[in-house]
Amino acid sequence: PAPVICIDGPTASGKGTIAALVAEKLGFALLDSGALYRITGLAASRAGLDITEANAPAIADLVRSKAITFTPNHRVLLDGDDISLAIRTEEAGMNASRVAVFPAVREALLQVQRDFRRLPGLVGDGRDMGTVIFPEAPLKVYLTASAECRAERRYKQLISKGLSANMADLLADLQARDARDMHRAAAPLKPAEDALYLDNSSGTIDEAVQQVLTWWEQ
Ligand code: C5P
Repeated sequence: PAPVICIDGPTASGKGTIAALVAEKLGFALLDSGALYRITGLAASRAGLDITEANAPAIADLVRSKAITFTPNHRVLLDGDDISLAIRTEEAGMNASRVAVFPAVREALLQVQRDFRRLPGLVGDGRDMGTVIFPEAPLKVYLTASAECRAERRYKQLISKGLSANMADLLADLQARDARDMHRAAAPLKPAEDALYLDNSSGTIDEAVQQVLTWWEQ
């Protein structure tokens, strides 16, 4: 089977950017697993399903019934509807982390994620790439960065997309999301036992990408 590079870590640690650049350099496919949880949260709210434990089976069925497409030019389609921007808001991130606690939802997305694997390789970006989805992956990176640094990064990201943002709210949201991701029973965010740690607080994105590529070549 095709090799997988897992890049896991908390919200706004730079995973997405680093994963995309590593995939591009190596000519590998890219799995943005967070987008799948964001899509699920959005699909639930569009279907009028509150994100509650009682609705978890219905939310899982809903996402199974949907056509999810990642286009080559990085657009995300839900039943043909372009939701690329809609899934990037803070609210969508928060809803993603609320649906992500349900085992039924995680189960519905399991095979979807494994189906991204193809030659010559895959870079998977998420929370449980190395612990649950691709436990046999030859390279697992756990990305860290301080909460302040991540809030600032998210702020710049949102502003650059023309979305509104406020630092204090962002920091609070990010800490709430981290706490939920780390303390949930189903696939909590934690480094795989064989993960290599990469601190992305101070260095540049290029340095982080280079570090991953160096590990990959070893
Ligand atoms: O990475 P991103 O911010 O897009 O992820 C949104 C949310 O989806 C995370 O806060 C987390 O709760 C959930 N998620 C997950 N497992 C993954 C990727 C994301 O539970 N592999």
